[in-house]
Amino acid sequence: METVKKQLPKAGMYENVLRQYNQAADIIDLHKGIRKILMNTNNEIVVHFPVKLDDGSIEVFTGYRVQHNNALGPYKGGLRYHTTVDIDAARALAMWMTWKSAIVGLPYGGGKGGIQIDPSKYSESELERITRRFTYALGDNIGPDLDIPAPDVNTNAKIMAWIADTYSSIKSPSVRQKNMHVVTGKPVGSGGLEGRDRATGFGVVTNIKKWAKNLDKDLNGMTFIIQGFGNVGYWTAHFLTKEGAKLIAVQDASGTIANTNGIDPESLLAHTSKNTGKIDGFESASKLDSSHFFEIECDIIIPAALGNQITAENCDKIKATLIAEGANGPVSADAELILLKNGVDVIPDILCNSGGVIGSYYEWLQNKRSENWKMETVLDMISEKLEDAFDRVVEVSNTYHVSWRVGAYIVALKKLDQTYKERGVFP
Ligand code: GLU
Repeated sequence: METVKKQLPKAGMYENVLRQYNQAADIIDLHKGIRKILMNTNNEIVVHFPVKLDDGSIEVFTGYRVQHNNALGPYKGGLRYHTTVDIDAARALAMWMTWKSAIVGLPYGGGKGGIQIDPSKYSESELERITRRFTYALGDNIGPDLDIPAPDVNTNAKIMAWIADTYSSIKSPSVRQKNMHVVTGKPVGSGGLEGRDRATGFGVVTNIKKWAKNLDKDLNGMTFIIQGFGNVGYWTAHFLTKEGAKLIAVQDASGTIANTNGIDPESLLAHTSKNTGKIDGFESASKLDSSHFFEIECDIIIPAALGNQITAENCDKIKATLIAEGANGPVSADAELILLKNGVDVIPDILCNSGGVIGSYYEWLQNKRSENWKMETVLDMISEKLEDAFDRVVEVSNTYHVSWRVGAYIVALKKLDQTYKERGVFP
C-alpha cells in the first residue's frame, strides 16, 4: 500500500509562496483574520474555449485568471502562454503580484493567468484567434479598473494589442476608446508607454546597482550569466553591460552558450530574432553542457526564465556572490536557505523584477490622463520607486534580522495589514 506522503502531489509553486508568506506573517504576528484573507485568492476564473486552427480543425484551450487580492487597487499582473500554466502556478504568481505592487507602493492588487499552451506550435494567425477568443471568454472579468493584464512569459506587446482591441470591440462604441488601458505593455502606437518594453530588465539592473553601491562594489569588470533570453533576459544584459559588466554565459530551452571574453547582448539578440527566439547556433560563443550552468565561475547570476530553477539539488556549487531574480520564483525555499548560509545574496523577485509592473502603472496612468510621456522621464520614475523600495526592504530586513525576501514580504504585509485595519471587513 502506498503511503499518504507518496500520494501527495509534488510541492507546487503555490505551496512555496505560502511557505514564504507564513514565515513573514509569523515574524510580524500578522492578525489572524487578515492572515486568513491573504492566504486565499479572491477569484479564480477558468475558461475553456474553442478555436478553429489553420487546417480547419477545432481545438479547445484552457485559460486561467486568478485574482488574489484587490485591497490596494485593481488586480494587476501578466498573462503567460506556457505548458506549465495551471491553477497552482496562476495562484502563486497572482499572490506574488499582490506583494510586488505593495512593496513598490502601487495602487494595485495582484492577479495572474494565461493559457496552457506551447505557443511555438501555432501560427501567428492561430495565436491571434486564440488570444482574441480567450479575451472574449474572460469578458467582464477583466477591465481597466477591475483587472489589468500585461505581458509575461511568451506574451508580448502584439498580444496585448489584440487583447485591448478585442475587449474594446465588444464594448459599446461610445466607450470603446476609453478601454485601451484594460491591458498594459501595449505597442507604443496603441497607447503603449515608451520604455515599458525594457522596464523589467532596467529594474533588475537598478536593483543590482543598489546592491553594488551598498557594498561599495564596482560593477565594472564583474561577470554575469543569464538564464532566459526573452524580454527580461535581453534587457537586463543590455543595461548591465552598459555598467561595464561582462555577460559570459546564457542558457535557454535550446541550450547553453559561453564565452569568457564576453557575449555581446545586441549580437545575440540579432541572432535570436532570426532563430525563432532561440540562442543555439550563436557563432561567437561555444556550446556548453546545460546541467552545470549555475556552477559557472561568475559574480552575478540572473535567472530570467521560469520558476524553480535553482533548487537544493543544484545550488551548493554556486560561486556567484549575487542572484538577482529576474524571473518569478526561480529559487526554491530550500535552496535559498543553503545559499544564504553560503554567503550568496539574493535579491528577491518581488522586489527585483518589479520594474515591469511599475512601468505598467505609468502606462495605465498615461492612458487615463490621455498623455504621452518620454522614455527618459519614465525610466527616471521607475528607478526612483525601485531605489526607495530597495532601501525600505534592506532597512526592514536589518530591523528584523531576516533575509531580503522575508523583509520584502514584511513590507508588503504591513501595508496590507494597515489597509485592512483602517477599512475593516464588509459587511
Ligand atoms: N508579468 C510582469 C510581472 O510578473 C508584469 C506584470 C504587469 O506589468 O502587470 O511582474
